[in-house]
Amino acid sequence: MKRDFDVVIIGGGPAGSTCAYELSKAGLRVLVVDIKKKIGTPVQCAEFVPLQLAHRYREFFADKVIAKRVKNMLHFTPWGETVSMWSEGFMLEREHFDKLIADLAQERGATYMLRTAFLGFEDDRIWLEHIDTRSRFSVCADWVVGADGPMSRVSKLTGKRTSQFLTTAQATMPLRKSLEDLLIYFRDYIPGGYGWVFPKGKVANVGVGIDPEYGVNVMDSLKRFLKEVVSEGLVEDKVLKRTGGWIPAEGLLPLVRGRVLLVGDAGGFCHPITGGGIANAVLSGAMAGRAIAEGSPEEFEEEATDTFGESLWRAAEKRRRHMKSWDNLERRIRLTWIAFEEYWRII
Ligand SMILES: Cc1cc2nc3c(=O)[nH]c(=O)nc-3n(C[C@H](O)[C@H](O)[C@H](O)COP(=O)(O)OP(=O)(O)OC[C@H]3O[C@@H](n4cnc5c(N)ncnc54)[C@H](O)[C@@H]3O)c2cc1C
Repeated sequence: MKRDFDVVIIGGGPAGSTCAYELSKAGLRVLVVDIKKKIGTPVQCAEFVPLQLAHRYREFFADKVIAKRVKNMLHFTPWGETVSMWSEGFMLEREHFDKLIADLAQERGATYMLRTAFLGFEDDRIWLEHIDTRSRFSVCADWVVGADGPMSRVSKLTGKRTSQFLTTAQATMPLRKSLEDLLIYFRDYIPGGYGWVFPKGKVANVGVGIDPEYGVNVMDSLKRFLKEVVSEGLVEDKVLKRTGGWIPAEGLLPLVRGRVLLVGDAGGFCHPITGGGIANAVLSGAMAGRAIAEGSPEEFEEEATDTFGESLWRAAEKRRRHMKSWDNLERRIRLTWIAFEEYWRII
């Protein structure tokens, strides 16, 4: 059968667009589909990425993409200790970041189809739907890349999908004083997760991520956290924007499923404890793209597992073993958070 494209990518987030960028650079015919009207919006993110990603992909870090450079992460514990950890990186304008990667992929020849949903597979065909007209159509490709985020339909239809998540809620608020560091709060009312205040110049992203298995309402947890940081005098009592979403917290899934590869959150590349997923989304998308372009897609599984497997496995294992009850917080947090030496001990 004649193929419409060499590769169809479902999802135009950082994982899907980086994959499209690498494939297009190698001269392959690529289609990216996304349900969004505009790549990059709405933003569902606290917007921090580690510096290392900018070394690897300098072209993704144009001036308009960077809101602020940060160097440290300060942790506030329930037992009164404050712990600082070097954590150099950028606060992004995530909307511009996602769009820039998509623009670079399109400049290299990738085709983007927005307001288009992936429905499923039928034999050799990939079924899609234009959301506005409700018209359904199919395309053919040698390879499909599932880059459709935490609730990935591609992973669901091809086998195992992530079943453990963190749920998050976030408000963007004006800062009352200048803030240079990323702030992390561990609290009894944020079970299985943490609260964050990430500065972006005049404003900050203030949010909580919790394990939904505790049955705590994430909006109640956020409300309490906002009250705490407002009363500290850190931010004004004024919400400029709200967002939230799901974060996969289980670790890597099987990544190569016949002619389907999974990247980014769809493949479980998000860190199950910190919830950081942007860098791994970009790197896994790139890795899958290069594997396909070099004619060895099946090697993606081994290469990705070698590169990311150990750190994601450790975090997932820590969550399974130590974060299923939220008592004795000092012991639990020391065992499960990357700033503490206990996290790195042999499991
Ligand atoms: C509140 C919050 C805060 C976060 N903060 C940080 C942070 O500070 N730093 C960090 O590194 N990570 C953070 N993360 C995680 C990070 O946002 C993700 O790991 C990252 O976006 C993963 O990129 P991705 O390309 O895999 O998926 P996504 O960015 O989720 O992109 C998936 C794309 O697929 C599209 N899609 C989904 N289903 C379909 C379908 N059926 N058909 C067509 N298109 C579809 C979606 O519209 C979307 O554009 C945060 C997450 C949340 C929810």
